Amino acid sequence: MKRLVVIGAGMASGRMLEHLFEREAGYEVTLFGAEPRGNYNRIMLSPVLSGEKSYDEIVTHDADWYAGNGVTCRFGERVEGVDPDRKVVVTASGETAYDKLVIATGSDPFIIPVPGADLPGVMAYRDLDDVERMQGYAAKGGRAVVIGGGLLGLEAAAGLKARGMDVTVVHLAGHLMERQLDPAAGYLLERELRSRGIEVLTEANTAELRGTDHVEAVLLKDGRIIETDMVCMAVGIRPACALGREAGLAVNRGIVVDDAMVTSDPDVLALGECVEHRGQLFGLVAPLYDQAKVAAATLAGEAAAFDPPQVSTKLKVTGVDLFSAGDFAEGEDREEIVFRDAARGVYKRLVLEEDRIVGVVMYGETADGAWFLDKLRSREDISDGRDTLIFGPNFAGGAPVDPMAAVAALPDDAEICGCNGVSKGTIMAAIAGGAGSLAEVTALTKASTSCGSCAGLTAQVVALGLGDGFVIPAEAGMCGCTDHTHEDVRRLIVADGMKAIPEVMQKLHWKSSGGCAKCRPALNYYLLCAWPEEYADHAQSRFINERVHANIQKDGTYSVVPRMWGGITTPDELRAIADAADKYAVPTVKVTGGQRIDLLGVQKEDLPAIWADLNAAGMVSGHAYAKGLRTVKTCVGTDHCRFGTQDSTGLGIRIEKALWGAWSPHKFKLAVSGCPRNCAEATCKDFGVVCVSEGYQLHVGGAAGMEVKPTQLLCTVATEDEAVEYCAAFYQLYREGARYLDRPWKWIDRVGLDHVKEKVVEDAESREALAARFFHSQTFFQHDPWAERANGKDAHEFMPMADLTRVAAE
Ligand SMILES: Cc1cc2nc3c(=O)[nH]c(=O)nc-3n(C[C@H](O)[C@H](O)[C@H](O)COP(=O)(O)OP(=O)(O)OC[C@H]3O[C@@H](n4cnc5c(N)ncnc54)[C@H](O)[C@@H]3O)c2cc1C
Ligand code: SF4
Repeated sequence: MKRLVVIGAGMASGRMLEHLFEREAGYEVTLFGAEPRGNYNRIMLSPVLSGEKSYDEIVTHDADWYAGNGVTCRFGERVEGVDPDRKVVVTASGETAYDKLVIATGSDPFIIPVPGADLPGVMAYRDLDDVERMQGYAAKGGRAVVIGGGLLGLEAAAGLKARGMDVTVVHLAGHLMERQLDPAAGYLLERELRSRGIEVLTEANTAELRGTDHVEAVLLKDGRIIETDMVCMAVGIRPACALGREAGLAVNRGIVVDDAMVTSDPDVLALGECVEHRGQLFGLVAPLYDQAKVAAATLAGEAAAFDPPQVSTKLKVTGVDLFSAGDFAEGEDREEIVFRDAARGVYKRLVLEEDRIVGVVMYGETADGAWFLDKLRSREDISDGRDTLIFGPNFAGGAPVDPMAAVAALPDDAEICGCNGVSKGTIMAAIAGGAGSLAEVTALTKASTSCGSCAGLTAQVVALGLGDGFVIPAEAGMCGCTDHTHEDVRRLIVADGMKAIPEVMQKLHWKSSGGCAKCRPALNYYLLCAWPEEYADHAQSRFINERVHANIQKDGTYSVVPRMWGGITTPDELRAIADAADKYAVPTVKVTGGQRIDLLGVQKEDLPAIWADLNAAGMVSGHAYAKGLRTVKTCVGTDHCRFGTQDSTGLGIRIEKALWGAWSPHKFKLAVSGCPRNCAEATCKDFGVVCVSEGYQLHVGGAAGMEVKPTQLLCTVATEDEAVEYCAAFYQLYREGARYLDRPWKWIDRVGLDHVKEKVVEDAESREALAARFFHSQTFFQHDPWAERANGKDAHEFMPMADLTRVAAE
């Protein structure tokens, strides 16, 4: 087998290897990467920085993939030299021989050589280590200065802001992203960033970074000083071509390659940001993926030529819609069409030359970007539809048409996914070849697998290709009001600091004016879980039982279930319950399945009064109606049973006292049994404890409702204190991770028991943090809703409806 050595485990080389293995070209591959990790989607670092995605979600090639393709991975090993004469690459641990070599070293971030640039706290924005460094600063709060108001700088600024820092962007030019945007669009972008609390200084030239053993301030040439705790420089990149130069390859600004991606040495190829092709350098991923295809073909001995495509730019800042492509410099022979809707912050500008689009800038509304880009690339004469051109495909010809008709009207070579260079024709061909779902199409074509901004358009093309039978998967969105999934919404609420339902709906482009019965309770819960100290519960977004703090029964009366800690009661409590039953003419008194006493058949208007009486006897709401903690069922344990090894009743009471009052995605039931005979039936509960001679077995994910599920064993702990801590940590992990209305077993099915074990059992720091967050939240929520309402809160809920039979007839 021929030996192929690849230097750089980045985006270009990862894609090239995929194409190469598809061709079965017969190479034995060794992959060197200076970073201590394999290929990941670098363009998704910004969502990782802001907290919208995790690193695991952006890995493009995992250990199984490398192993499956026989790739020898040398991650964390920088190549220090190449000797093309002896055909070896040199690293600190020796030489590796090759038959063919591919250099894909990307680029180096540029650091402005001002005094203080080498101070600790000054960093670039290039890889995961930079992101982790920035997250480290953000965790401490404080201030950040981002130097550079281009794509990368603004994504860094938005990410740091989302992480809670005070951020200032320092930008040399007169408006942001001046290479992609005209001043008007730059102004709208600046306004948006300011409204998010990011300070923007344009025409600001950095003179010096100040500090003694750490950066403390940025001094501008005009004398202004901005105090800061960290500085991120995002002012440009330079091709990382030192290896090529030192090896004697032809190098200008980048390593020079021909159309087949071959360097001046026939056995050495290069691709990605480190190359120069016909005088041009590259900084976006779309052309690099084309290069990857060509390089793989060349290695396989096929003829292929790289032809750089026109690329478009999008800013990956949630809630900012921006699209830019082509050239919009002013010129004598150029005209423009501009659309402004100042109130909505929408701005669109087309630059025309000889009746052809040469530049497009769109801000605030970018859905038609692909349509304009297609016209720009094809150099189509637009003189016919010029009047309505700016309104996009839906109005082409003067009248609004169905959006699907606009997608149908796109030619086959229209680009759908810019990052991966996927055209409409490629998607249609995948469908013609048998792909029968959105997931199959995206897996096959890679459409919408990079920055994701084309997901909607990709789904529309797939819907078109699959015809009437295909419905864009409903599970993609939380409900009909949004395309965001539950997980997206939860992440974005935290990442963007959203603290109210209308704010979420506005920022995440809800499609309905006020949500629906599915999304409103879910949003209410997600906000309450994310911001326990600040969020004001929205009663109107709760289901009826939670709104009135009692279960509604089929005849319209309510049931009242006072809490009995661990199922234990006293004669005084029993007397109070009996008195209440008499006083309010309760027709039925029943023992519940969770060892509590249920007063059934109470009139709605009597609720506050019966609660007040029960409160007076020391009892609080049993939350038997809640998407929250219900009961902790116990057996009699060592107190009375011959077999019990531990005090199951005492532990049950302790756990219930720790957990009561908390809200969760669904009801949460617990039990504690004093020995493996398991009389409290702990192994069909959401969380169950079975006392054993060596301690406490903790079981999770059981259910005995419509679906009967046995629990799975989480772990065994030695002490009661640990049992309580693990229980709180598990509950918090579920509270923070599950979709609204998912019982724990459903959530565990989705994330895997290993994930739960990792966070609750194996990682002590994570467990402690989860338990701490839970108890912090309890300081806000552990109070009795009955007492508040018995004192008059939400009195309108319990007023009888007007009696219309008594209205005088006229
Ligand atoms: C934060 C961020 C956001 C971005 N967003 C977008 C976007 O939205 N859209 C877009 O199109 N593009 C975006 N880009 C640019 C895009 O990520 C790059 O164009 C692309 O990653 C370049 O691919 P590459 O393979 O040439 O280099 P890289 O992906 O940078 O990979 C090069 C790899 O080579 C390794 N390496 C370098 N020297 C050596 C050596 N001597 N030995 C061993 N290994 C070495 C490096 O450690 C690196 O891992 C973004 C970039 C960043 C940093
Ligand atoms: S589970 Fe064990 S300790 Fe508890 S009542 Fe049953 S036999 Fe007794």
